[in-house]
Amino acid sequence: MSTDSPSPVLVWFRDDHRLADNPALAAAAATGSQVLCFAVIGGSDDLRPLGGAARWWLHGSLRALGESLEQAGASLALFEGPAPSVVERVARETGASAIFWNRRYGAAEIALDTAVKKRLTDSGIKAHSFNGRLLHEPWDIVNQAGRPFQVFTPYLRTVMTRGLKAALAPPKRIPGGIWPSSLLASTIPLEELGLEPSSPDWAGGLRTAWRPGEEAARKSFRHFLSKGLRGYAENRDRPSLIGTSRLSPHLRFGEISPRQIWHAVTAQVAEHPSLARDAEKYLSEIVWRDFSHQLLHFHPHLPVRSHSSRFDAFPWIDDPKTLKAWRRGRTGYPIVDAGMRQLWQTGWMHNRVRMITASFLVKHLLTDWRKGEAWFWDTLVDADPANNAFSWQWVAGSGPDSAPFHRIFNPVTQGEKFDPDGDYVRTFVPELAGLPSTFLHHPWDAPPAVLQEAGISLGETYPEPIVVHGLARERALQTFRSLRGLE
Ligand code: FAD
Repeated sequence: MSTDSPSPVLVWFRDDHRLADNPALAAAAATGSQVLCFAVIGGSDDLRPLGGAARWWLHGSLRALGESLEQAGASLALFEGPAPSVVERVARETGASAIFWNRRYGAAEIALDTAVKKRLTDSGIKAHSFNGRLLHEPWDIVNQAGRPFQVFTPYLRTVMTRGLKAALAPPKRIPGGIWPSSLLASTIPLEELGLEPSSPDWAGGLRTAWRPGEEAARKSFRHFLSKGLRGYAENRDRPSLIGTSRLSPHLRFGEISPRQIWHAVTAQVAEHPSLARDAEKYLSEIVWRDFSHQLLHFHPHLPVRSHSSRFDAFPWIDDPKTLKAWRRGRTGYPIVDAGMRQLWQTGWMHNRVRMITASFLVKHLLTDWRKGEAWFWDTLVDADPANNAFSWQWVAGSGPDSAPFHRIFNPVTQGEKFDPDGDYVRTFVPELAGLPSTFLHHPWDAPPAVLQEAGISLGETYPEPIVVHGLARERALQTFRSLRGLE
């Protein structure tokens, strides 16, 4: 930077890829200085690397963010490498007076930000951080004793009594600055970051299903508000319908904020009071997201260790064959297989089916929940450090405020209840499409003539069940009971 131009300010984007309701960007733009925006890919050795599907999303998300920033008068520079040294170099070589970012809540992310803040402050550069990710920060919602909640219902009740600031409009114009040539030479074109898969390119299904970016998030949300919110409380459990908002990857990468969602839904209810019940249910899911972030904040071990130490002695079975059948959607249980194939093909799975497939892995196959968590982490476009870890522990029964272990989903009755016409199974398990609905969720009970008519040969065109439900259930319960103190 030349010495006669005033110092620019920096915005470091991380999981907050939007212009609207972005407190860090708004505060930087309000300084009146030139604003240099950047992201660092690779972050730090201590951060968990993103899975394949999330990397694909990140590529599209960064591209969309760069385009939006350019339309507003700025640009997005991309750097690769360990964040502490990259950020320090960017700050030094731009001569920036201040840096702005939105906070993250995992232990490694906080340690990284604290280290960066110290290095910058020691060099006289002000670091300003904001809440751009949650409705309320983890330490703001506590019980009467001032301690974090372990149980969702009182957490939700407390959130409902709190006010929420208005969402921020996007800055009308962002006065972008000019990057010094020494730094420009170190920026990496998006295409060269290798975020998209190439050989093989397995992302075709993801491209068909999704559009990353703030504009696409806004469109999806508007569509949900006008068409999906009414009936949400019932439809959200029907995987064959588009009965949920499908905003999870957009929320994961910060392309829309929970605060924008909250205020828009509340305004919609004010206009149409008959939406109140559906809206209440929907907003409670947004609060689950905050809740899992506060749990991760206060229990940073959540993605790697059972929260309940009683599960440390659990005799998990390590069977690569059944794990592979689960991952590939070849367990012989149609609702489980449909879910696992939806995940593989589209990078997303319906919430009800996430619960069924996770329960099947942990309880029917007695596989360590961490193996399922890792598979979801790699294959979900919305893979989220807080929601994924907390949800897996919730299903396993090892987490805070979890479903009890002895609640074991029956994959047949779950299929019949939530996919009664079989449309979901027929979409993702096409080899069963010709089977009448009566047998669709338990093809092994179909008479040979019916199977033949549907072109199905069990064990050949579609697998036989890899475990028998009743026996697997009994084995899970016995294993569970054999561990002292788990009841
Ligand atoms: P909607 O029903 O429209 O809900 C709106 C938003 O609320 C979601 O986008 C999400 O941000 C939040 N939300 C909804 N349900 C939950 C929940 N149970 N816990 C926390 N937040 C919730 N969600 C993720 O975002 N990332 C994950 O990695 C993830 N892994 C999961 C793993 C398992 C085993 C299970 C059972 C659930 C997981 N979930 C995860 C929660 C939930 O399944 C998804 O958030 C939801 O399916 C996303 O679809 P949607 O946006 O249409 O949800």
